[in-house]
Amino acid sequence: LSFDQMGLKDDLLRGIYNYGFEKPSAIQQRAVMPIIHGRDVIAQAQSGTGKTSMIALTVCQVVDTASREVQALILSPTRELASQTEKVIRTIGDFMNIQAHACIGGKSVGEDIRKLENGVHVVSGTPGRVCDMIKRRTLRTRAIKLLILDESDEMLSRGFKDQIYDVYRHLPPELQVGLISATLPHEILEMTSKFMTDPIRILV
Ligand code: AMP
Repeated sequence: LSFDQMGLKDDLLRGIYNYGFEKPSAIQQRAVMPIIHGRDVIAQAQSGTGKTSMIALTVCQVVDTASREVQALILSPTRELASQTEKVIRTIGDFMNIQAHACIGGKSVGEDIRKLENGVHVVSGTPGRVCDMIKRRTLRTRAIKLLILDESDEMLSRGFKDQIYDVYRHLPPELQVGLISATLPHEILEMTSKFMTDPIRILV
């Protein structure tokens, strides 16, 4: 499967090729199509497999840039990963005018408020700060249709379980969920059964 055969938007394909990618990696080959067709996906994958770009390109494909509401939310265990994902989305989505924002601790809340009020399509953040922004009603959740939980096992081992559940409770019921994790311990499987509907499981 090539990027051309995935049915991606033209402006997104330009972004992918411009970024220097020629062929999708294994996880991209297997996870992109199910996600853009609306399926819930559990991907057991480590970093280095191209999972960040997989997230970026699925998010860019599902977002409608004609609307200025947040439509995709990505939760990551660390500020660095959340920022990295936001950067890849902005780079790959450059020709589509995707507005992405990293909602992470250690940055000023004022800047989050200003950015979110200007209107963004995608938020990539850590569970604590995202939860905070939702409770302040600065991050509006009603148009969110895709939730990606990246490095889920790592989020749990950093103690983010309650915040992830808290965020989930604020999201619309018709939510699509993608979960990425290197390992699938009991607590992750518990999350998949609470959050996901008939998920496809991918091992790379
Ligand atoms: P990740 O697992 O997402 O952190 O990606 C690991 C590295 O592989 C990053 O430097 C990416 O830019 C690169 N990469 C991801 N997907 C592709 C691809 N389809 N073609 C070439 N390089 C890629």
